[in-house]
Amino acid sequence: MTDAAELRQRTRDLLAEHPPATTDRLDFLRARFDAGLAWVHYPVGLGGLDAPRALQAVVDAELTAAGAPGNDPRRIGIGLGMAAPTLLAYGSDEVKARFLRPLWTGEEVWCQLFSEPGAGSDLAALGTRAVRDDATGDWTVDGQKVWTSSAHTARWAILIARTDPDLPKHRGITYFVCDMTDPGVEVRPLRQITGEAEFNEVFLTGVRIPDAHRLGETGDGWRVAQTTLMNERVSIGGARIPREGGMIGKAAAVWRDRPELRTHALHRRLLDLWVDAEVARFTGERLRQQLVAGQPGPEGSAMKLAFARLNQAISGLEVELLADDGLLYDDWTMRRPELVDFTGREAGYRYLRSKGNSIEGGTSEVLLNIVAERVLGLPPEPRNDKDVPWKDLAR
Ligand SMILES: Cc1cc2nc3c(=O)[nH]c(=O)nc-3n(C[C@H](O)[C@H](O)[C@H](O)COP(=O)(O)OP(=O)(O)OC[C@H]3O[C@@H](n4cnc5c(N)ncnc54)[C@H](O)[C@@H]3O)c2cc1C
Repeated sequence: MTDAAELRQRTRDLLAEHPPATTDRLDFLRARFDAGLAWVHYPVGLGGLDAPRALQAVVDAELTAAGAPGNDPRRIGIGLGMAAPTLLAYGSDEVKARFLRPLWTGEEVWCQLFSEPGAGSDLAALGTRAVRDDATGDWTVDGQKVWTSSAHTARWAILIARTDPDLPKHRGITYFVCDMTDPGVEVRPLRQITGEAEFNEVFLTGVRIPDAHRLGETGDGWRVAQTTLMNERVSIGGARIPREGGMIGKAAAVWRDRPELRTHALHRRLLDLWVDAEVARFTGERLRQQLVAGQPGPEGSAMKLAFARLNQAISGLEVELLADDGLLYDDWTMRRPELVDFTGREAGYRYLRSKGNSIEGGTSEVLLNIVAERVLGLPPEPRNDKDVPWKDLAR
């Protein structure tokens, strides 16, 4: 088994062969992937070394100290956090070899074609159809997706579509990799409360997908999608941040820089949130350690819940701390951003953008249901449509 000392040496060899100061950024990232130092817990040949996930920190520390470039999770978060684990778990060898390297280096951006106008929380109700051509085995997809983050920059998408309307809603779904450059894919921006259009609606008309780009068995897409969704919650709420980093760091900085704005009541609220943020940070650390032992489970939903609540409360306090200045908004120009950066802009942006945190990746109400049923073991919600064929459901 690969240990910390061996990984450190491999990282130093990579740095010696490709000095960051003189190596093109993309060449460095490709070399890092090929050396198995991209995500060490991935298999050999796919950017990893089959090493324990916890040892990634050894590699990262060496690379940071040497000033090596990294990929940018703010731009390729859906690829890294959701598509990659699903491709790894369900892709054929060819699929994994084709997609994982450019996904990790950021050469190819991914998006997630799951939600539809009539299927968000109740995702299994989705109506986008994929029909198989018996002669070629390939698929033709028609339908509409919505709220698709990064569809305007994406080269590929993870897509779920209905392949058998005669089965109950969870059973007739299949999971695909969709080519966003197919002529049948139309991406239209949806402007958000922040002024930007970070997400889109996506119209799929006669989109062709080769059967080789199906992930998992036909009709087993709901199970495959669980891998994506469990990883999504961890990926949205579980980023590693330093003590007093992220949103609470921004609010604490205002407190320190603007003594004239302080009141006793605001002080108490800041301290309460500071403690909550620290507890959430440690909980995230524990979750990451559990992940070392396997795939994320429903516990990630609790983390994402806390993340949404805290982001909204802290950004609200930051705006309040800034008093009149908090009402100013830096830029409401309609843009189609390539990345989401919570701390790169002003308080007003954080305040407005964090509203979406309790919706994206599963609403807080739905996550509470998951925690209640699957973590705490409480009685489930009634699900009257469970065994009804999808085509007979009232819509
Ligand atoms: C910033 C952002 C980015 C997003 N990016 C993507 C993306 O890239 N790809 C993608 O596919 N989707 C994306 N989404 C969509 C997101 O997954 C959905 O918005 C979400 O699942 C909720 O679905 P909905 O909007 O249809 O709301 P609905 O499901 O219609 O919910 C409406 C309200 O009813 C409540 N509710 C629904 N069911 C229950 C229940 N059983 N119990 C209690 N309350 C319930 C909800 O909590 C909510 O308050 C994004 C959303 C946002 C905000």
